[in-house]
Amino acid sequence: MDESALSALALECGFSKAALCHADAFTQEKDIVRSQAQLAERRQLKFEPLADLPWVKSLAVLLWAYRPAELPAAGSVFVDSYYFASNAAYHAAKKLEDALTAAGHRVQSNVSYPARKAALRAGLGVVGCSSMLITPEYGSRVVIILMATDIELMSRKPEGSARISQTCLACGRCIRACPGSALTEHGLTHPEKCLRNYMLEGTIVPEEIRSRMSRSLVGCDVCQRVCPMQLCNHEEKEEAEPASFLLDDFLTADPSAFSRAAARLAEQIGRNAARPQRIRAQAALLAGNSGNPAYLPVLKNWAESDFPAVREHALWAIKRIEQEKK
Ligand code: SF4
Ligand code: SF4
Repeated sequence: MDESALSALALECGFSKAALCHADAFTQEKDIVRSQAQLAERRQLKFEPLADLPWVKSLAVLLWAYRPAELPAAGSVFVDSYYFASNAAYHAAKKLEDALTAAGHRVQSNVSYPARKAALRAGLGVVGCSSMLITPEYGSRVVIILMATDIELMSRKPEGSARISQTCLACGRCIRACPGSALTEHGLTHPEKCLRNYMLEGTIVPEEIRSRMSRSLVGCDVCQRVCPMQLCNHEEKEEAEPASFLLDDFLTADPSAFSRAAARLAEQIGRNAARPQRIRAQAALLAGNSGNPAYLPVLKNWAESDFPAVREHALWAIKRIEQEKK
């Protein structure tokens, strides 16, 4: 099988675009990540495909385009559609893996190497000031999945340039809009301030970040929402409407109602992210941001949790709500 046959098969499995890139070590990214190893986004990232999987001849870079989530109505929480798409793309990659294996290839889907760099190597776009991959077809709203393959790469492609090019206007809108002040004209220079790095991680969120999360249960889409490049040729895909969630669904004293809501969320974004204690930890912050005293009984219960992030966030939320009452 060659690259164009692989692309056709990837499209059949639901991906929007696919291309191969070489599997050399990600040396530069390894050095950068070493200095930011504490960040959740970077956990479990690997850098040396050939050392990990000696049979690898290329990485398939699979793009899954998605539509933005609606902004939440009153009482609802924000769940970025990236997470729905990411879950769907993960399963599509498994399907593609089975099809390639049946065709006699050796492959491994959902491998964790620096995805944006791989997409640059595959010539699929550029990295904008938002530090997102920006593609000419879909803007930055793409999930990138990597698959290690034994498919020979016929020739190396000219790599997409970093940041400024015809698919990033350098307009600075993403930098000005970022609620965490995480972006500069050089990209995500303060990853420790990016809200996405703390969503449903189950860790205690730094205090200065908590109120900036506003009503977001998972994801921050602000830098993408303001980016004019989202308008370019975005193909409308047939997709199931993602479910919406109320804060009340999670801030409930009824354990079975909480379990039902958590299971519904897990169906949409995957069980790994939607673990009950992670959901409680994030929901506690959103309750604090809501200022709604109706949540105090549940928060007081959570303040005695054995799970440190749930306990700490609930205590913070109680203090915040009680201060607002005065
Ligand atoms: S995801 Fe949100 S916090 Fe992170 S860089 Fe974009 S706008 Fe800023
Ligand atoms: S908002 Fe402007 S500067 Fe930021 S990524 Fe989009 S085009 Fe580039």
